[in-house]
Amino acid sequence: MSNAFFKTPLAINEPVKSYAKGSEDRTGLLSCYNTMYSQQPIDVPMYIGAMEIRTSNKKPMSPPHEHQKVLGHFNFGDASHVRDAIDAAMAARSAWANLPWEDRAAIFLKAADLLAGPFRNKMNAATMLAQSKNVFQSEIDAACELIDFLRFNVQYMTQIYKEQPESSPGVWNRLQYRPLEGFVFAITPFNFTAIAANLCAAPAMMGNVVVWKPSDSQVYSAQVIMELFKAAGLPDGVVNMITVDGPVAGDVIFKHKDFSGLHFTGSTNVFRALWKQIGENLSYYRTYPRIVGETGGKDFVVAHASAIPAVVATALARGAFEFQGQKCSAASRAYLPKSLWPEIKKLYVDQVNSIKIGSPYDTSNFVNAVIDETAFDKISSFIDYCKAQADAELITGGGYDKSTGYFIEPTTFVTTNPKFRTMCEEIFGPVLTIYIYDDNDYEQTLKLVDETSEYALTGSIIAQDRYAINTATRILENAAGNFYINDKPSGAVVGQQPFGGARGSGTNDKAGAAMNLLRWVSARTIKETFVPPLNYQYPFLEQ
Ligand code: NAD
Repeated sequence: MSNAFFKTPLAINEPVKSYAKGSEDRTGLLSCYNTMYSQQPIDVPMYIGAMEIRTSNKKPMSPPHEHQKVLGHFNFGDASHVRDAIDAAMAARSAWANLPWEDRAAIFLKAADLLAGPFRNKMNAATMLAQSKNVFQSEIDAACELIDFLRFNVQYMTQIYKEQPESSPGVWNRLQYRPLEGFVFAITPFNFTAIAANLCAAPAMMGNVVVWKPSDSQVYSAQVIMELFKAAGLPDGVVNMITVDGPVAGDVIFKHKDFSGLHFTGSTNVFRALWKQIGENLSYYRTYPRIVGETGGKDFVVAHASAIPAVVATALARGAFEFQGQKCSAASRAYLPKSLWPEIKKLYVDQVNSIKIGSPYDTSNFVNAVIDETAFDKISSFIDYCKAQADAELITGGGYDKSTGYFIEPTTFVTTNPKFRTMCEEIFGPVLTIYIYDDNDYEQTLKLVDETSEYALTGSIIAQDRYAINTATRILENAAGNFYINDKPSGAVVGQQPFGGARGSGTNDKAGAAMNLLRWVSARTIKETFVPPLNYQYPFLEQ
């Protein structure tokens, strides 16, 4: 019984720990990493309702930076497990949807506090091991971003619930924010632990039940997410984690009458295929499914002749190579003015050449391994392709080695062709392509940036001249859903820079914002008339 209008705690961004040399934070995290690295191989189940399901089809999990090391196995399922997960979700639906919102809020606020405290090292270490993120990249993703998603979304949920219509004399109008009538399918990418958790937590917070298929490359940290949800008191069946082949899951789920929403983050081609599949199956569904997808990017940095060269060089080094360029927001094409290029080049090449590569356990490594062999082979073949082209010149990196881990040097090409293949296509690795433009062609170059790729996720303008900044902001209005001025195009913070892009980059429903949560409710308008009329006749009918 909630006989009160409860106030939720004010959401504040979780402070990012520095893990500076000699700090207890660094020692604690590395010791947790060591323990997880050295323990007996673990066996990650599927979580379906109250059950932990294991199968005979075991898939190994290894750190990308040390692929011979086996951390454990996960249990691969089939179509029967997908059906079981849907049944478990639907069985949990009524109790969950009818639980007062403050109880749901309490679970996710508790999850945030557990993650800020006792789960922090484990979630960070799992992300370092599973996704090869250095301590800082893990901290801003697996700890801080996820804590922020949970806390800010609770706040946004209450804002949504407070949004109510006007009433008139004798009538009380209300809006009830019902969960969707069915279950939500969350499909998540390998690259962000926070995204994986949030794609489940956001619909669940709004009263929905979820079937979740994580990426095979992220299962090791996905298990810690399930442990966190359980420790916070999330009832069985609200989030069901299945590790199955994507198309196998899709074949069952997209034909199910109770499928009511897709919460997807991943590549553009996969999302387009899923949307098509959903469209083809529309007649099966009880309700029109909500489709939310955040997808690929070809994120740009444009520098104007008024830019400070060191700002440009740093934005490129960080923007392109943090987490090995495997952020959807990573800078992967740059447009730099001829007059500044010699100075930027010197600063940039010096910075990039000083980058150390290796295991995240050695905290002096800025760059770690790319996620798996498929990614390694794809990225290295892009590099080989570029090396063989007459209109591209290699200025940093270009080397790669998968003998121990999937390591690729931070690689930069300068091209004379603004439509060069790697100026247009997403590579998703540590490869940046730069085009040098004539200072007099600034506006033309901005139009070129706008037209070069099918994506519109993130982008930066770096300039001191305010007219130049304004021109770029205007011409590039639709080229990025997250636009940065004098900064790198990555590193969005929940509650501060709501994240998402349009065009080929997604439905732009802004993760970690009220806009996203609104997709997971279906409002019911309730009009109550206190003294209803007793006869059909209106006064105008009187003779
Ligand atoms: P991916 O598309 O290969 O995989 C994403 C998920 O989809 C995985 O769980 C995968 O198993 C599943 N999947 C693949 N094919 C499927 C199918 N036919 N049916 C059902 N599920 C299927 O992406 P990834 O390599 O894990 O992640 C990298 C991509 O994600 C990049 O393109 C990146 O730009 C994008 N991304 C975008 C954002 C954003 O906010 N815009 C954030 C992170 C990543």
